[in-house]
Amino acid sequence: MTKPTIITALPQRRDTAPASDRKLTVVAGGAGFIGSHLCRALLGRGEAVLCLDNLQTARPSNLPGLQADPNFTFVRCDIANPLPPDVLALAPRIHRIYNLACAASPPLYQRDPEHTMLTNVVGTNHLLRLAESAGARFLLTSTSEVYGDPDIHPQAEDYRGNVNCTGPRACYDEGKRAAESLTFDYGRAGRAEVRVARIFNTYGPQMDPADGRVVSNLICQALRGDELTIYGDGSQTRSFCYVSDLVAGLLALMEAGFDGMEPVNLGNPGELTVNELLGHVIALAGEPRQVVHRPLPVDDPRRRRPDITRARELLGWEPLVPLSEGLAATYAWFEEEMRCAESGLGQGRS
Ligand code: UDP
Repeated sequence: MTKPTIITALPQRRDTAPASDRKLTVVAGGAGFIGSHLCRALLGRGEAVLCLDNLQTARPSNLPGLQADPNFTFVRCDIANPLPPDVLALAPRIHRIYNLACAASPPLYQRDPEHTMLTNVVGTNHLLRLAESAGARFLLTSTSEVYGDPDIHPQAEDYRGNVNCTGPRACYDEGKRAAESLTFDYGRAGRAEVRVARIFNTYGPQMDPADGRVVSNLICQALRGDELTIYGDGSQTRSFCYVSDLVAGLLALMEAGFDGMEPVNLGNPGELTVNELLGHVIALAGEPRQVVHRPLPVDDPRRRRPDITRARELLGWEPLVPLSEGLAATYAWFEEEMRCAESGLGQGRS
């Protein structure tokens, strides 16, 4: 596991409050795909952000863009380890904690399943303890994977799921289920105010091209002129939410005026097959592409679609970005990334 290291000093403030009074929002996993979008949104709202990340799966270029903001502080640490004393010492100033720290792509979280499980269970407990000592509100990003390979469709929050606890996805699925249990136990005991989001498939700019997700894989393959990989026959379904919509949902959930003692699905109910997604990507490429079929990964869910009634009612939230628009923006972003890489500019846009 990564040794905790403080990378940057505390930032200069741009507001007039004395430094010692300024409230901090912690984003664990803030250098990752969704985390970095969340940090940017928080900074845009004038929040001071303390980002904790072990950089296990973060896209390296996410950080410099964020670090340009004086209200952003980065601490490299692994939440599965005890939190660094420098972070614990900031407790009196911390008022919100978002936990997005865990590899989320199946090939990546399965690379070190023990670490995935510990990140979700032990890491979440470390952050909950910090929330308790700080008197901060804590938001866990859980996942649609808690529903496993669902036999109820679409998935509402009261569905208890169909997870294989002995399979290769269990380190993530069961880790998140245990993290939810812990979070609600802290909430029930009055040890912290809690929120739990169940995030469905999310896509958008700043996805890591090496993440192995279907959206990033197909777009990068199309741009490179490689074969497009479809796992299984492509009839399995997913529902893809554009990242700005997801971040708006996380912010709304954190600030919502309810007791937080129920999970909330955040995702886009627009369901499509992987083959239909392939069609969209080929249309964006503008010319035919070779498709190659690979074996379906073990325990790959057959279908997935969120019921977002609860999010609509509690948060007044629903996704706004249509798939065609979001995919076009994501495709254009990857295209520009590749152009920068080829011209020697490398990664670094934010
Ligand atoms: N998938 C695919 N080709 C790829 C990567 C993934 O067909 O290059 C499939 C994968 O088997 C799954 C779906 O696309 O059925 C979504 O996979 P992803 O890893 O993006 O998300 P998750 O399985 O976690 O929902």
